Amino acid sequence: MAETSLQHSLEAMRHIGSAPHGPVLADTYRCLAWWLLPASLDDELDGLAGITVHPPGWPLHCPPVVHSLAGRWWLALPDGSGQLTDPTLLAAAFGPGGYRPDTRGTRMTTGTRALVDIPADVLPLLPLPDLNALPDARARGAECVWSGEPLSTATAIDLGERPSPHGTTLFLRGCQPCTRRAVRAAHHAHPGTCEQCTDDPTLCETRRALRALALELRR
Ligand SMILES: [Zn+2]
Ligand SMILES: [Zn+2]
Repeated sequence: MAETSLQHSLEAMRHIGSAPHGPVLADTYRCLAWWLLPASLDDELDGLAGITVHPPGWPLHCPPVVHSLAGRWWLALPDGSGQLTDPTLLAAAFGPGGYRPDTRGTRMTTGTRALVDIPADVLPLLPLPDLNALPDARARGAECVWSGEPLSTATAIDLGERPSPHGTTLFLRGCQPCTRRAVRAAHHAHPGTCEQCTDDPTLCETRRALRALALELRR
């Protein structure tokens, strides 16, 4: 059971979009919301600001599914299928690129390096695999979009969300070696596509950003 503020849950639900997730209960008096998670939850949500994880068996009073009770109502109804929320999906929605309260909570997760932030104007330059044929786990950021390496919130690099060719929303994330390779490829390919670089490469902001990112990802 993950407890968050109501506002952040609404934001996370917007990020998750149409990806399947479990029931979400809101308490409009206390401005809280709870996500039902599998009992097998490990450390997927550790270190994420804004999320409190309650152990299995923690009591939560739920209203009947058809109407609200004492300010509580279902943001996402239990549909009878037993579907619960995948913690990696929730972590992606709350992690970098998802909900970001301030830099203290979510960023310094590994103890050795902060997660690398890819500037929004650099994202479109990174070569990606065919988005038409993306396996589900890669489409929701549970695995590296390039290699399929399973990601945790500590190792994942956020590559932003974008519409998929099928009309859903992709939450792409990469492992560090793959992201570094993609940034280096973009850095290498960039001058041939840039007027500023033909003129005077030392003045090109994009080239500078790609180079700084490649260096940052080397660690
Ligand atoms: Zn990878
Ligand atoms: Zn350039």
